[in-house]
Amino acid sequence: MIAPRLEVSHVTRTYRSGNETVTALNDVSLVIEPGELVAIVGASGSGKSTLMNILGCLDRFDGGTYRVDGIDVSNLEADAVAHLRRDRFGFVFQRYHLVNALSVAGNVELPAIYAGMPTARRRERAARLVDQFGLADKLLFRPNQLSGGQQQRIAIARALMNDAGVILADEPTGALDRRSGELVLSVLKELHQQGRTVIIVTHDHDVASHAGRIIEIADGAIVSDSRAIGARENTAPTETAWAASGPSRTSISSLPSAFGMSFKAMAAHKLRTGLTMLGIVIGVTAVVAVIGLGEGARITVRNQMAGLGTNTLVIYPGRSFGDPEASRIVSLTTTDVDALAAQPYVDSATPEIPTSQKVRNGARTVDLQVIGVGPSYFRANGMKLVSGRLLTQEDLVEANSNVVLSEPAVPSLFGSAEPVGKQLLLGKTPATVVGVMALPHFRGGAATAYMTHTALRSRVTGTLPLANITLRVRDNIDTTLAERAASNLLQRRHGVKDFFIFNNDQVRRASENTMATFSLLIAALATVALVVGGIGVMNIMLISVTERTREIGLRMALGARRRDIMAQFMIEAVAVCLVGGGFGVALAIVLSFVSSALMSPLPIVLSPGAILLASGFTVVIGLAFGYLPARGAARLDPVRALASE
Ligand code: ADP
Ligand code: MG
Repeated sequence: MIAPRLEVSHVTRTYRSGNETVTALNDVSLVIEPGELVAIVGASGSGKSTLMNILGCLDRFDGGTYRVDGIDVSNLEADAVAHLRRDRFGFVFQRYHLVNALSVAGNVELPAIYAGMPTARRRERAARLVDQFGLADKLLFRPNQLSGGQQQRIAIARALMNDAGVILADEPTGALDRRSGELVLSVLKELHQQGRTVIIVTHDHDVASHAGRIIEIADGAIVSDSRAIGARENTAPTETAWAASGPSRTSISSLPSAFGMSFKAMAAHKLRTGLTMLGIVIGVTAVVAVIGLGEGARITVRNQMAGLGTNTLVIYPGRSFGDPEASRIVSLTTTDVDALAAQPYVDSATPEIPTSQKVRNGARTVDLQVIGVGPSYFRANGMKLVSGRLLTQEDLVEANSNVVLSEPAVPSLFGSAEPVGKQLLLGKTPATVVGVMALPHFRGGAATAYMTHTALRSRVTGTLPLANITLRVRDNIDTTLAERAASNLLQRRHGVKDFFIFNNDQVRRASENTMATFSLLIAALATVALVVGGIGVMNIMLISVTERTREIGLRMALGARRRDIMAQFMIEAVAVCLVGGGFGVALAIVLSFVSSALMSPLPIVLSPGAILLASGFTVVIGLAFGYLPARGAARLDPVRALASE
């Protein structure tokens, strides 16, 4: 406890309301020694509260000087004045000014939060003070559950939290019945006896008679200043229980408390906060789900493309897909296949000659697609062997009558029997089943038999045109270069460009690009949703600041600096956004489970990166949209804020 000497000299305070200038204090000079008990009396409107607010460093003045222990306060910066308030002065107001969103304990602890007192010590001290005033059982009550007298005693406990040397009580008994008023007065007298300076504003002369010194004000000027005979001027130094002088880094050390307070503020307005959050929830869900959709689509396409193989080129007859001449042009030949296969950039080349045949196994006859291919066909198309073996170079050279079946072709011909090694009739040609293949996903359930193109032509169909040639490009060669080289070669051989080349890699890239554009578009929409959510947050914060103006004034009176108020409202905005973001992420996770449970063709694949990104985004939105309201709160004038309804 540090009870300073207060020295007011020639202080003037004027208010401007409209065109009029009201002089609330006119050339007031007075010295208050440490340990005095002073009553300031006067009619309503005489300037008592104005003087109190100046004494407590809560209000500025126009002329004169005010010294606290020799320090001229008008030369101090705002933060230093806040420190002075926090450490030296304890305010008791007529209307208590307790924060109803906080418990009794929370209210008493408030000044210590701004002083950066460690949490455990703060709790313990608050509980002890409340206990001293006989309200230990009310520690977890809300202020509005207490009587006026009890609330005022809680307010006094709060004023003592940082062990203030000066207690400023502005009409402390004004709203109380006689008995409660007397109790509060006796508490204040006891504080004086402990060595504190106690200054009480009152218009009640009975109350004033308790004081050793009575200062009377009329029309902003001191008209009398009298000490009672034998008045106790207590200058005895007392031990300091908690001296929180000097700068404490409240903005960091009190972060958990600040978050705690913001959650309490949210809880006090559940519906409103919930509705505000909805915008953020929707925005975050959209962002996370959209990123997940994009990721899912990319994976799906990659899987499909992996089946095709990205280093394959497919050469078709005609000038492009759907060329009406294509079926009549016999442009691609098996000698083209051989020429291509001999190129250094080609890993393997295989034609595709599709036909349709009646295929018979004993009594069972089915219409099957029979395709003439080269041995490398299966690899080039990403097909997997299920049982038996593939068609070989030997099969090709000797035109062996061997076939490989696709899995879907097996049941209709063999039921559940093992097909490998069995004989079939392709039309009238007998053939041996040597293997079974699994088709890549995108080919679906086609029932197909594969034969070497040499065998197909020589044994089954005679000469048929090639539907296409599939080239597998060597691994370390760029498909675009290979495409150009193959095109040049064929053009030289044919004399005209009567074919076109389909590059899987290009298709993959093109489809990825399309997808990226699409994702970007939806992401932009989601961002708009988030920004709209942010505006909602700003709106709610502005309302919150307006509603809690008195609380802001109170916090300033208790020692909060502008940046503490700023930080509090920024943190509240961020907290709303973070909680909303949390719900949004949860919702997106639910959506991704639902989409995978329903085997949606568009799976949502969530990545920690996307979730992190969205969370970071919500923090940014909270900061961006909380800034204006928070700045507004920090710039409030404490006296006006306290006086607001
Ligand atoms: P008291 O506390 O003695 O009743 P105040 O100190 O509150 O008186 O007010 C003193 C004078 O200053 C009054 O005339 C009052 O109307 C005026 N006053 C106080 N605050 C303001 C203000 N914010 N704006 C304009 N006039 C004010
Ligand atoms: Mg007043």
